[in-house]
Amino acid sequence: MKKTAIVTGASRGIGKAISLKLAADGFTVIAAARADEEKAADYIAELKTISPESIYVPTDISSESARKNLVDTAFEKFGKVDILVNNAGVAPLVRQDILEMTEESMDRLLDINLKGTFFLTQYTANRMIEAKCGEAIVNVTSMSAYTASINRGEYCISKAGLAMATELFAVRLAEYGINVYEIRPGIIRTDMTAAVTAKYEKLIAEGLLPIARMGVPEDIAKAVSALASGVLPYSTGEVINIDGGFHIRTL
Ligand code: NAP
Repeated sequence: MKKTAIVTGASRGIGKAISLKLAADGFTVIAAARADEEKAADYIAELKTISPESIYVPTDISSESARKNLVDTAFEKFGKVDILVNNAGVAPLVRQDILEMTEESMDRLLDINLKGTFFLTQYTANRMIEAKCGEAIVNVTSMSAYTASINRGEYCISKAGLAMATELFAVRLAEYGINVYEIRPGIIRTDMTAAVTAKYEKLIAEGLLPIARMGVPEDIAKAVSALASGVLPYSTGEVINIDGGFHIRTL
């Protein structure tokens, strides 16, 4: 039987690249995003061209009932979930200095990026343990997990929290043979960065990154594909930076 992978935030950007790569690798993909089937029709068609049995389940990960529906659907249809890729995430609607940032924006970011991901992981892990399946969980965080951007502090805090959640689940799930990894993307060309592409390209031209280009979603997909293949069986809680070398301090 083919291996299965849930991928959240699969309809666009990084999640789309991850889901198509895993489908090409031979996984049955249970893809999720908030968009309904009609809105996601082009994406679903592309996924099914590669992997006809793969499915799309409209899901808002900040909703408990939607999270349960996603995971229960995967188990009902395929009997197991081998890989969970927690990719769904949002940026603040408006970039605001932390002296101005609203509680509403903080709630939105934490509800989706941190709490939604945490409780989806918790529910999936419990079902994996019950069904004696599950090989890896991959959390897509960000360079913002350790980089202070004072005009989107709520995003940074949500990703720093998710970095700790990765370590917590890595420790808790090791006895069940489920490895948990964190992928930290740098600056990746997607809808999320579309409004600030010119700013980032200028910084890159001025020497921000050792590898002097913006990343593309496929850069992240290759890393997830490697982790999902089981290439690091004796590593868990590991952070993989996919950032053109941004994390290296230089002098
Ligand atoms: P994107 O282009 O904005 O795509 C986000 C995806 O997540 C979409 O499929 C979106 O679809 C889905 N999504 C958003 N909110 C959701 C929710 N509540 N429940 C379920 N799905 C939801 O973003 P991206 O750049 O590909 O980012 C993907 C991940 O990488 C995010 O976690 C982001 O924080 C992280 N990241 C991105 C960059 C970058 O430079 N682009 C850098 C570091 C980290 P719907 O709108 O239909 O729900």
